[in-house]
Amino acid sequence: MYPNILRHPGPTPIPKKVELAMAQNMISHRSEEFVKLYRETTEHVKPVFGTKQDILLLPSGGTAALEAAVVNIASPGDEVVVVTVGAFGDYFVSICEKYGLNVHKLQKEWGEACTKEELGDFLKPLSNIKAVFATYNETSTGILNPVGQLGEAVREHSDALFIVDGVSAIGGAPAEMDEWGIDILVTGSQKAMMLPPGLALLAVSDQAWKVIESNDSSAYYLNLLSYREWNEKGMTPNTPAVSLIMGLSAVCDLIDEEGGFSKTVERHEVMKNMVRKSMNALSIGLLTTDEYASPTITAIRTPEGLDLGSFLGHLKKTYHLDFAGGLGPLQGKIFRFGHMGYCFPSDILEAVSLMEAGLQDFSYPFEPGAGVKAAQEVYLSSVRKP
Ligand code: PLP
Repeated sequence: MYPNILRHPGPTPIPKKVELAMAQNMISHRSEEFVKLYRETTEHVKPVFGTKQDILLLPSGGTAALEAAVVNIASPGDEVVVVTVGAFGDYFVSICEKYGLNVHKLQKEWGEACTKEELGDFLKPLSNIKAVFATYNETSTGILNPVGQLGEAVREHSDALFIVDGVSAIGGAPAEMDEWGIDILVTGSQKAMMLPPGLALLAVSDQAWKVIESNDSSAYYLNLLSYREWNEKGMTPNTPAVSLIMGLSAVCDLIDEEGGFSKTVERHEVMKNMVRKSMNALSIGLLTTDEYASPTITAIRTPEGLDLGSFLGHLKKTYHLDFAGGLGPLQGKIFRFGHMGYCFPSDILEAVSLMEAGLQDFSYPFEPGAGVKAAQEVYLSSVRKP
């Protein structure tokens, strides 16, 4: 009976308007109606990527789009750099290795970001690097890498393409693909894009298209040249996720209703600050510094003296509040508070309040209401901002 309060880093809650859009009658993916839907929607979603390039739609999870980026631009034996600051950077490493690429791995501690200087120093002694891969928002740690600056380092120190996994960022974090010199930007539907899983979005720069054209890729289903060819006709090479594209159209309308994508970004920034200040007020540690903190997910250290599994289980069972645990080496050490997509300051107040209830049940020493008050102060100052 009680709704599950899904504060995960994806899948995330779906707006009613999007659910209703997805419930429309099915249409043929070779019909005029589809071409209209496809053309309008792929145009409408561009501000979320910050690009003038076409947005391609793959009927897949984010991983397939990452794989598409790898297999279309590189061939076995090519030299690439992968910046990894957590579990999803490691994904990129695994995909590149699987395709026989020679991977130079720039590994940072989990919880840290990669800076422009670090990437620059890493690239300086290397030559013939075909591509640099990086994760924009590392979902396992709640770090937002400064990809605009990383793009500068790539251009200053190499002729490589710059390929970015934007899976848990796009739709909630600012993105300026063209200005930041990103050559391929990828995202998935089920995170800040307010959709169910199953649709990947991808954009490619002119420079990357040239590389793709000259690369003898072995990809068939993930062949981006065939996506480009069909995109010209307002369609996709195979049967697309039609209902999800109907939903995506509604997502774009919702972003307009909010006042445009810059307002959506502002809301995510407010929610990030609400979560961070409330944890400070409860003396609960955060994994990352404020400087590189993600606007879509916050990694919170296990409150002192608590068994994390029991605490998260209790929050879910008793208060229907569903947080995500830590991954890999951070399992048991952190939990992840998702605040992306269809999530609002009121949801943060609710989650912090219920979390405080759970902390009281576990006799955690704190002043009841301190976290909510701190979150509320951030919200009030954003509302009252001149
Ligand atoms: N990259 C990032 C940053 C992610 O957060 C995820 C999923 O959580 C992925 C890639 C993989 O996406 P998917 O699970 O849709 O294949």
